[in-house]
Amino acid sequence: MNEILYSCRKAAELITRSQDERLGLLDRVRLKVHLSMCGNCANVDRQISQMSKMMREPEPAEAPTD
Ligand SMILES: [Zn+2]
Repeated sequence: MNEILYSCRKAAELITRSQDERLGLLDRVRLKVHLSMCGNCANVDRQISQMSKMMREPEPAEAPTD
């Protein structure tokens, strides 16, 4: 369990970093493996990707439909 907790911290760090830089192959694989095993981090990844996607929109819609 401790390893998983440590990985969650690492995963969160990688998720954040992946938003502004391209991760190395090893980091991407690690993150992918972790996300496939960890629902929590998969959620975080989804939320952050969604958020950064919204922030990249030039004119964000007032009411997101999905
Ligand atoms: Zn995790």
